Amino acid sequence: MDKQNTIKDPVSVSGIALHTGARAGLKILPAEENTGITFRRVDLPGKPEVKALAQNVVDVRRGTTIASGDASVVTVEHVMAALHAAQIDNAIVEMDGFEPPILDGSALPYCTMVKEAGKVEQNAPARYIVPKEPAYVEYKGTKTIILPCDRFIIDCVTSFGDSPLDTQYREQEITEQSFIEEIAPARTFVSYRDLAQLLAMGLVKGGSLDNAIIIHDGAMICKEELRFENELARHKILDIVGDMYLTGCRVKGHVIAIKPGHPTNVQLAGAILKQYI
Ligand SMILES: [Zn+2]
Repeated sequence: MDKQNTIKDPVSVSGIALHTGARAGLKILPAEENTGITFRRVDLPGKPEVKALAQNVVDVRRGTTIASGDASVVTVEHVMAALHAAQIDNAIVEMDGFEPPILDGSALPYCTMVKEAGKVEQNAPARYIVPKEPAYVEYKGTKTIILPCDRFIIDCVTSFGDSPLDTQYREQEITEQSFIEEIAPARTFVSYRDLAQLLAMGLVKGGSLDNAIIIHDGAMICKEELRFENELARHKILDIVGDMYLTGCRVKGHVIAIKPGHPTNVQLAGAILKQYI
C-alpha cells in the first residue's frame, strides 16, 4: 500500500508576484501525516493558516484563491500542481504575502524546489480519490468530465478564438516524471485583449514576457521560444493537476477538459468529493 509523503528539508524561493508586482517569498516545510497541504501567512499576526481544500476556495477568476478567517492566498495552483505530481501529501507552504512568486510562469521551478527538498515516506496510508461514477461540470461554454480510471489521465482542448494557433490539444498521463518533462515547463498565458483589461484594473503589475506568453493577432508572443507547440493546452493541464489537489487527495481518473478554467476545475474537484459524502 502506498504511504503518505512529506518533504525532507525546508526549501524556499522568492520572486515577483504577478498581480502586485511586489517581491514575494515562499517556503515549503515538512508536515505531520494527515496534515494535507496548508498555506500559512507569516506576514499576518498569529500566522493564520488556510487548508488547500475545495471548500476554502473563494475566487476562481484569474487563478484559484483560497481563504479561511483572516488569511487568503491567491494563485495556489502552480505550487499545488508540483506537490500533487510529486505525491507530497503533507506540507506547510509559508508565504510572506497573499500571492506566491510567479517565477517563469510555469510550475517547473516549484518542481525543482520539491525535488531539491527530497521526499520522506510517512506511516499513514496515502489517500486517493477515484470518481465512483462519471462526473460532469459546465461553466460558460467550458466543459469538464471525469471518468473512473485507475491512472490519472488528462485530455485537454483549448480554444480562445484569438488565433488559429490557440486551438490546441494534449493528452497526458500524469506521473511524477511525465509531469516534470511534459507539463510543468508550460507557461502561463494571457490574451492581449484580457491584458489591456487587467492592466486597467491595476493588476498584473509583475507580468512580463519573462513569465507569460501573450496571444495577439494570430501570434504567440514570448521572450524565449515556445517550449512546446501546444504549450497553452499543456499549461491548462498543469492548472487542472493543481486544482484537482483541492480534493485533499491524490486523484485518479480520466479527465476530459474542453476549454477548461479554474471555475470548472474547482467545481470538478467538488463534484468528486460529493460522491463520497
Ligand atoms: Zn496556471
